[in-house]
Amino acid sequence: MQKTIKIDGFEISPQHYIGGQRVASPGCFEIFSPIDGRVLGQVAEGGDEHVAAAVAAARAAFPAWAALGPEKRLTYLRRFADEIGKRSDALCAAESNDAGVLLSRLQHGIVPRAMQNITWFAEAALTLQDKIIETTQARHYVRHDPAGVCAIITPWNSPLMLTTWKAGPALASGNTVVIKPPEWAPLTCSLLADAADAAGLPPGVFNVVQGLGSTTGARLVSDPGLARISFTGSGPTAKIIAQAAGANLTPCSFELGGKSPFIVLADADLDAAAATGALMYRNATQVCLAGTRFLVDVKVKDAFITRMRAVVEKLRVGDPRDPATEVGPIIHPRQFERVKGYVERAKAAGAQTLWGGAPHEYGALYYQPTMLTNVAQDSEIVQQEVFGPVLVLQTFNTDDEAVALANGTDYGLGGVCYGETTHAQAVAEQVRTGFIWVNSFGIRDLAAPFGGCKRSGVGREGGDWSFEFFCDVKDVVVPKHPFKASFSHR
Ligand code: NAD
Repeated sequence: MQKTIKIDGFEISPQHYIGGQRVASPGCFEIFSPIDGRVLGQVAEGGDEHVAAAVAAARAAFPAWAALGPEKRLTYLRRFADEIGKRSDALCAAESNDAGVLLSRLQHGIVPRAMQNITWFAEAALTLQDKIIETTQARHYVRHDPAGVCAIITPWNSPLMLTTWKAGPALASGNTVVIKPPEWAPLTCSLLADAADAAGLPPGVFNVVQGLGSTTGARLVSDPGLARISFTGSGPTAKIIAQAAGANLTPCSFELGGKSPFIVLADADLDAAAATGALMYRNATQVCLAGTRFLVDVKVKDAFITRMRAVVEKLRVGDPRDPATEVGPIIHPRQFERVKGYVERAKAAGAQTLWGGAPHEYGALYYQPTMLTNVAQDSEIVQQEVFGPVLVLQTFNTDDEAVALANGTDYGLGGVCYGETTHAQAVAEQVRTGFIWVNSFGIRDLAAPFGGCKRSGVGREGGDWSFEFFCDVKDVVVPKHPFKASFSHR
């Protein structure tokens, strides 16, 4: 039986949470901290029986949870958010230790956002049934009926934020959920189960099955009892999930990888662009929406590089638990080797290093914030997502060239464009992505859509888009005049 995991004085269950009960597994897997490689503990590995039990519990809980209505669910979900808040210190300790996320960012950004992910959607769900279409013939009222059991699968780079971002709207609209946390960073999802339990969510409404993606995850997404699969992760995994889901025609939402452009026009405020540019190294660039391809007008190239280098040189690489740290570790030795390999191959292909380009002396999984230039548009380093602190810089002569380079990968998640506002906006509008920030970065609102074009995703979540995905939309049509049945009418 897996033992409780202790981190900074907090006790975290390594077991599944199924039908309102903690459940152990005969099998388990070991987790490490990227900070220093120490073993954090053994986590239960879900087998077929655990996935089946979780889906069955979620199916059994669904009718009553769906029938409660949004007002009563709001009461439960406010309590859930409160319980998340009460566990703030434990959540911060867990995710800074298992995923290497900056503690300061968890405290000030991610935990408050996780709470908001629950309450915002619970409040928004109150107006879900208000969509009415009046015509001379009939009144259509458009219902958003909960779909059933939703599988939620998230990656390791931000499990707390991403799990609540999906569970919030799914639960608020009357669905029940089965969560398969990321195996490299599974602890905050376990604490979320404690919060759901303490909030009194009815057994089976919120379930967590721990395990590896290739076994537990694969079993979950092929379950015919699912009504929806909401997945955030890599493109290759999404393709596997899509095949499994296809067998049951289970609708999927995919939020996938990116290789987003960071465009610097000649009329940009270069100091502001450089300061924002350095932010791309946050979380060691293990951030899907980071701008990782710098496209800089050749006229300001040298001035921009000088400014950004000055900011990057001052970045503090180190322990994510230290409030002064700005760049933490890479999650796992496998990911670290991947990042290193990308840089080595790029250099061998002729890339020049503007800064960084090697492991960082701070510790085994730390890598220097890196910028490579002299890279061809069709090269691996420009086309593929590194998911580590490695950026590339290319130049352009005209706006059209900037747009062509920006659109010249299979990805289309996000982007950043710095320049005089109307100019930057005009360029931003031509970039094919799900979102783009003008003279800014990372401004998000829960009402706004989020997702990617091309290989960066399928569908959108956020605001009404989340509800459209997690609900069955139904048009109930009531005629305004007595209906006369006739074969000649359409
Ligand atoms: P991944 O695709 O390897 O794993 C993501 C999740 O899928 C994990 O929980 C894993 O256990 C699970 N999984 C793996 N194989 C599975 C299978 N066959 N069936 C079901 N589940 C399976 O991704 P990762 O390496 O954990 O995360 C990094 C990727 O996530 C990057 O590509 C990054 O860009 C992307 N990401 C995207 C967003 C977004 O919102 N677009 C946000 C964060 C991360």
